[in-house]
Amino acid sequence: MNTSQSSLKVAAETQSPAPSTALISWADSLELAVLFEPGANRVLEVNRAFARKFGQPGPAWVGHDLVALIHPEDFEDWASAGPRLARPPFHIAREHRWQTAQGWRWISWEETAVRDAEGEVCAVRSIGRDVTKHRLAEEHFRKLAQAVEQAPVSIVLTTPGGTPQYVNSRFTEVTGFTLEEIFEGQIPLLRDGHPSEAAYRHFCALVASGKKWSGELCSKRKNGTEAWELVQVSPIRNHLDEITYLLCMREDISERKALEDQLRQAQKMESLGTLAGGIAHDFNNIISIIRGFTELALILPPGDVRMGRYLGSVHSAAVRAASLVSQILSFSRKSDVAYRAVQVNDQVRELAGLFSETFPRNIEQCYELDDTIEAFAADPDQIRQVLMNLCVNARDAMPEGGKLTIATNRVAGQSLIDLKVDPAQDYAHIRIADTGVGMAPEVRARVFEPFFTTKQEHGGTGLGLAVVYGIVANHHGVIDLESIPGSGTVFHVYIPLKVRANLPVANATELANSKLPAGTERVLLVDDELPIQEMLGAALSDAGYRVIPAQDGTEAIQHILAVDAQVDVVVLDLNMPRMSGLDVLKVMRARSPEVPVLVVTGNLTALVKEELRALDHTDILEKPFDLTAFGTALRGVIDEGARAKAKGRRL
Ligand code: ADP
Ligand code: MG
Repeated sequence: MNTSQSSLKVAAETQSPAPSTALISWADSLELAVLFEPGANRVLEVNRAFARKFGQPGPAWVGHDLVALIHPEDFEDWASAGPRLARPPFHIAREHRWQTAQGWRWISWEETAVRDAEGEVCAVRSIGRDVTKHRLAEEHFRKLAQAVEQAPVSIVLTTPGGTPQYVNSRFTEVTGFTLEEIFEGQIPLLRDGHPSEAAYRHFCALVASGKKWSGELCSKRKNGTEAWELVQVSPIRNHLDEITYLLCMREDISERKALEDQLRQAQKMESLGTLAGGIAHDFNNIISIIRGFTELALILPPGDVRMGRYLGSVHSAAVRAASLVSQILSFSRKSDVAYRAVQVNDQVRELAGLFSETFPRNIEQCYELDDTIEAFAADPDQIRQVLMNLCVNARDAMPEGGKLTIATNRVAGQSLIDLKVDPAQDYAHIRIADTGVGMAPEVRARVFEPFFTTKQEHGGTGLGLAVVYGIVANHHGVIDLESIPGSGTVFHVYIPLKVRANLPVANATELANSKLPAGTERVLLVDDELPIQEMLGAALSDAGYRVIPAQDGTEAIQHILAVDAQVDVVVLDLNMPRMSGLDVLKVMRARSPEVPVLVVTGNLTALVKEELRALDHTDILEKPFDLTAFGTALRGVIDEGARAKAKGRRL
């Protein structure tokens, strides 16, 4: 039974399921067909499709050992079929990899035993099909399914209407819900975590239009705790391009969120620490000066000439403390600007004196001031602060010496378009240039950040430029800089030259021999802090005023409402126990609106400002102030009141 000629006869004699004529039709079949001898695995006959597939004409296969074609890993399974084919139903089906003319292919075989008259298996007839494509697709699918199941993100499939169809195990792990529980509880998976109905509707509309949605949502777990998740929902379409499913992937980011919170908190603490450290350091210095000189003064014999010098030092220490506080405040709150008509060149000249005394001799100072620029509306203290901070930075940038230039001129907004200024406006341009170390791009990018400093070892606070930036912005101005590492830096400050009528003129601070403008009016002085009351009282009495002291709001009201009330003006502190200054002001508005009031306060919060504005009260003096400022403000309030009264009479 080993010749091909005998095969037809053999086939005809068997009771195999296929009729004998089938063998003839093999020749033209598109399916692969091979008849071989079991045991020896030798080919008896192959059809055309087989010959084509395996790359040799039909007759060449006769007598060929089939084993040579089978993938070594599949051989054992293939060989195990022999005994099974010898028993009913004499038929098996299986898949193996075969070495074809196109390389290894998966072939699915239907094998049937061919038996002789005695019922012995004399041949095996195999009909095969190349199933490589299916097999790969299936494998691909299996891999994908496993990847989805084991993915570290939660994956949910829903119908376009949001009914869940599948959740992976990560989803159950994170939320605690299985698919069954979601069905039973009718949990609206897609709705979950959207902050509002409107937000959810927006989400639905977006997804329905075929777009992808992503965002961070906070949803509730089965155990009641909250989970922050990064959620992405995208539509899945069928071959007709219709949306058949929604794929929702959710990544648990609770841990990252918690870390972010911690980091933010840590940064805040660090900033606070730096700030507090810097302030404490400066204040300690100032306090030491004040303590030292007052202690010295206290033991001086009466009439000693050194007294004046000591008190002068105490005074300048206090001025420094005040400027420190205003610097911190201007940084921490967006304080409104106390507008005055500021002539910037005067301010520069004033500081020039200070710089020439305190800056190292190897720094040459150069001023190019254009005196044709007019005064602009600004807070003189804050503008001084800007100049000061920029010049101090320039000094620090030139440890080996160099040239500091301060220049002013006028520019049209039109020529500053790149800086997004108002083109219709003219600007005062202040240029502060140094020939120092310059900045690397990464430093330059961060200089305006609060607490950013490269002077850790030299006690930099990193607040200087942050303050400058805030002040310039408060004045509706802009700041720009150019810097070349190794060559120097130029800062440009632009402040709008707004024309404003009736602004009081900022006067240069001549503190030393200051005197209160004289007056004879009766001043009701309301302040709960005795030292301040004593000091202001003494200054006012010295200048000729008659002082009526009151220690709180109630006492003040009593004086004002007294039958023989003889008060020409009130100096009113706001922060007082029992009855606040604001309440006193309200009573006065109702009962004696003709008496002018100068409000003095050390804590002008936005709320207080709002209340004062509601009362239409604008005469305010912020603490700390020097006595000249106090006297001038008081005089202004009295004179303004008198003018208003006269006008009232004329009407
Ligand atoms: P600080 O002076 O306390 O460091 P600033 O906010 O004033 O804080 O400045 C921040 C940083 O900007 C400085 O540490 C320095 O690195 C850089 N910087 C500022 N001005 C100049 C300048 N003129 N030349 C070079 N670097 C500068
Ligand atoms: Mg600085």
